[in-house]
Amino acid sequence: MANPEEMYQCQTANCGCIYDPDRPPRKLNIPKGTKFTELPRDWCCPICGASKASFKPLAGSGSVKDDHS
Ligand SMILES: [Zn+2]
Repeated sequence: MANPEEMYQCQTANCGCIYDPDRPPRKLNIPKGTKFTELPRDWCCPICGASKASFKPLAGSGSVKDDHS
């Protein structure tokens, strides 16, 4: 199972899509184990189309929890 630090969540309203390196969205043809930081710069959210910049780590520095502390 991926570390929370390696899982990223889309922060746009009404989305919340989570990128899990162990379970990348199948329709995007991303090899299993590809870290979010290794995705192409033009990668975007498979659900809402937001850019990579709209994603935040679930844990660790810069995480959603840290933003609210
Ligand atoms: Zn999204």
